Amino acid sequence: MNYNVAQLLKEPIGSERAFTITKGESIEYFVPVDSAAGHVKLVRTHHGIWVQASVTAQVSQDCSRCLADSSHTLDLDIDEEYFPEIDVRTGRRMSPPPDWEGLSIGADNLLDVAEAIRQSALAILPLKPLCKPDCHGICDRCGINRNHDECSCYSQNIDPRWEALRSLLVET
Ligand SMILES: [Zn+2]
Ligand SMILES: [Zn+2]
Repeated sequence: MNYNVAQLLKEPIGSERAFTITKGESIEYFVPVDSAAGHVKLVRTHHGIWVQASVTAQVSQDCSRCLADSSHTLDLDIDEEYFPEIDVRTGRRMSPPPDWEGLSIGADNLLDVAEAIRQSALAILPLKPLCKPDCHGICDRCGINRNHDECSCYSQNIDPRWEALRSLLVET
């Protein structure tokens, strides 16, 4: 999802480009986003390029209880300004405005929309993801996945010998 913005950077403020991210487009370092699809608009601003994107992203995380892979879909609205590290006309390195917190465009003039998608997804993902709301997790005694198997580690079965004793206690 790298767009060459060398030409757009030479154009007047307000100039635009629009792109479509086709479904399933993915990048290796994109974790936790597996793939994304949607629309991207790039607008030349005073400082750099403003990215507006509306994206549906497939995200996968490990369930915090049972560690199973849990995938879900996120609708993301991205609104991010990118600052060019290099002045496209002079080739000189530029320093961002002092309070700059946005992303940057490298010396190759490639603007990587994937990074904005990734950051936007990370910002809204739960810190403790669950594969399903009622995930039973992993038994901390025997280690089985309690969504698929049952174990007797925490069951209330009492040894029959104690059961006999208890009935005596109840009678007295
Ligand atoms: Zn789970
Ligand atoms: Zn168990």
